[in-house]
Amino acid sequence: MSKPIRVTVWNEYRHEKTNEQIGQIYPDGMHNAIGNYLKEQSGFEVRTATLDEPEHGLTEAVLAETDVLIWWGHGAHGEVSDEVVDRMHVRILDGMGLICLHSSHYSKIFTKLMGTSCSLKWRESGEKERLWVIEHGHPIVEGIGEYFEIEHAEMYGEPFDIPEPDTLIFVSWFPGGEVFRSGCCYLRGKGKIFYFRPGHETYPIYHNPDVLRVIANAAGWAAPIDGPQPVFGHSQPIENLE
Ligand code: ZN
Repeated sequence: MSKPIRVTVWNEYRHEKTNEQIGQIYPDGMHNAIGNYLKEQSGFEVRTATLDEPEHGLTEAVLAETDVLIWWGHGAHGEVSDEVVDRMHVRILDGMGLICLHSSHYSKIFTKLMGTSCSLKWRESGEKERLWVIEHGHPIVEGIGEYFEIEHAEMYGEPFDIPEPDTLIFVSWFPGGEVFRSGCCYLRGKGKIFYFRPGHETYPIYHNPDVLRVIANAAGWAAPIDGPQPVFGHSQPIENLE
């Protein structure tokens, strides 16, 4: 049996405590809605971390024991310390997977990894979202149909100012006419990154079985592999140059 994938689910965890409606949807926070689902699947060892814990719950030791970090942030991106962001960045380049959810497109770690503004269009009017699968053989869409729908969602629309994804997994359609690249894969160093759009806090999106399945699949995909270490710098020839 292969080793379990060690997942840390990180959440800003403010809306659930300050907004009654959101608190009712996620009484234990979005991190636990996602984390508890992952715990029910085989192959994951799950812990959670939140903004208001010391070092945001992401000490050197926690990150060293994290294979895949799942990130949800919205109103408090600026409160995440640069020191912790740099620490995550080093771990990602060394192979830790990162799954950035919904409004985390503006998180410090995602914009640092992308190098662009990561801005987008948005509208909050409870529209339906239809997510179309683009890459049918990709592990992230295992068990997912040709498309799936979220009955009520916040709209995100193009242009989405990101670098061209290495692999585009989902494109979303909204009744207002917009489309959006809602599932994007990147490699940075040895780290695999997946941006996944669903997750506006006022809707029960992390109770949706398709959304949860994609997150679990993505955690499996983003886990580090036991690959070669890159070797940099001055190099002796392998062949005889004489
Ligand atoms: Zn939102």
